[in-house]
This record gives sequence, C-alpha cells and structure tokens, in this order.
Amino acid sequence: MRVPIIAGNWKMHKLPEEAVALCRDLIPRLGKLDDREVVLCPPFTALPAVGEAIRGTKLSLGAQNVFYEISGAYTGEVAPPMLKALGVKYVIIGHSERRQYFGETDEMVNRKMQAALDHGLLPIVCVGETLEQREAGITESLVKSQIEQGFKGIAEGYAKEIVVAYEPVWAIGTGKTATAEEANRVIKVIRETLAGIYGNATAAAMRIQYGGSVKPGNMAELMGQPEIDGALVGGASLDAVSFARIVRYDD
Ligand code: PEP
Repeated sequence: MRVPIIAGNWKMHKLPEEAVALCRDLIPRLGKLDDREVVLCPPFTALPAVGEAIRGTKLSLGAQNVFYEISGAYTGEVAPPMLKALGVKYVIIGHSERRQYFGETDEMVNRKMQAALDHGLLPIVCVGETLEQREAGITESLVKSQIEQGFKGIAEGYAKEIVVAYEPVWAIGTGKTATAEEANRVIKVIRETLAGIYGNATAAAMRIQYGGSVKPGNMAELMGQPEIDGALVGGASLDAVSFARIVRYDD
C-alpha cells in the first residue's frame, strides 16, 4: 500500500516571516494526516523558519534543489549535508524550471540524486515532456529516457524511498492540467520503466506524483486513478485554503 504524498513547491516566494504565517494558517486546516504525507518546500532562505514552524506536526520539510558536490569552491550552491543539518527530509531534483532556466541535464539529475541519497535526503525527481515533445508524440519515450538516465546506478536499496513527480511542462503554472486518465497512462509507463530497472515489487512500492496546475477542483479525480500517488503542487500551495483542500482531496 503506497502512502500518498502531497508536496507544496513554493518556488521563489515567501520571506521567512511570510512562510511562517503561511504555515500557521495551513496547519490547522490540514486534518489528521494519518493516511497521507505532506511536504512543504520553501526557498532555501525560509527552510530554518519553516522547519521551526512545523516542528511537532506530521509535516515534512523539503528543499527545491541541491548540488551534487559535498563541499568546495561552488559559489552559490548548497550541499546535501547543509540541507540535512536544517532538518530537510525531501529534495526536489530536476524540476522543469531547473532544466529550462539553469541547464540541468539528466546527468546532473542523476548526480544530484546519488549525492542526496548518500546523505540521507529523499529525492522527489521530476520528469515530463514539453508541449513540442507532446505534439511530436514522444512523451512516453522521453519520460522513459529521463527515468533511465536519472536512476542510472542508483542502488535498489534506495529506490523505494525515491518519489517521482510526473510533471508535463506544458501544464506547469499554465492552468492546463493533463486529464486524470492521461496522467495515469504516463505514470504507468514510468512505473513500467522502473520495473525494468528494479523489478515489479520495487516499482509497485514506489510513489509517483502528478504535478501541473493541480487545484482543489481536480485533485480528487487525479487521486481516483490507480497509478497516481499524490501531487507536486506549485501555485496552489501558496494559498493555505487551496493547499489544505488539495491535501484533503476536497473539491
Ligand atoms: C510545480 O512547480 O511543480 C507545479 C506543478 O506548478 P503549478 O502547480 O503551479 O503548475
């Protein structure tokens, strides 16, 4: 039985005091969280404040990026042990905005995954096609290749702890969502690809989220699909009422 995981990616929003205010507004709205996991991913600068604000709750702390080296002359980068020391549990790796604006490749994603896992951080690794790739009919081969390259050499012992987020790039921040059936179909391809690497039992235990304009009005339908194990939520996670409704699958 896979425990659904819903993560809020706050992107480059919220000063520390604003982040704390959002946590205070959100926490009482969430319910018991006995049967699902919720992760908040604020910007690096708000990680300590959010870590403090969610202390004693069932919420987990996530970061939006990590570097693959552990220390050294890498101005502006943040190493896995630095995040670990702040109480970070999850880290988003390979978000399409990182791939698009910062030149992140599948090889870098792979190195970041390995470094994160080696230092006790759990990746939420993002894959997904652009509109052009979708229109060219290569969605399935593209996500298959992103998974195969991203997971290259990652030990089976780590696999079950890794979360995959299927995020069609054309659906991120655009208000356009993949239909629940479409998302389920691509996620099935992702799971089959993982089964090809780690075997059926491990792939069946791995959690795969959908991301891309998730809102209260479409979450219940997405979660009704057999392959979808939660959501990676951008814009709607910045609003306590919307994010709490998403977490509760409350249309
Ligand atoms: C995201 O940033 O991962 C995302 C899915 O954004 P949005 O929900 O705003 O489309």
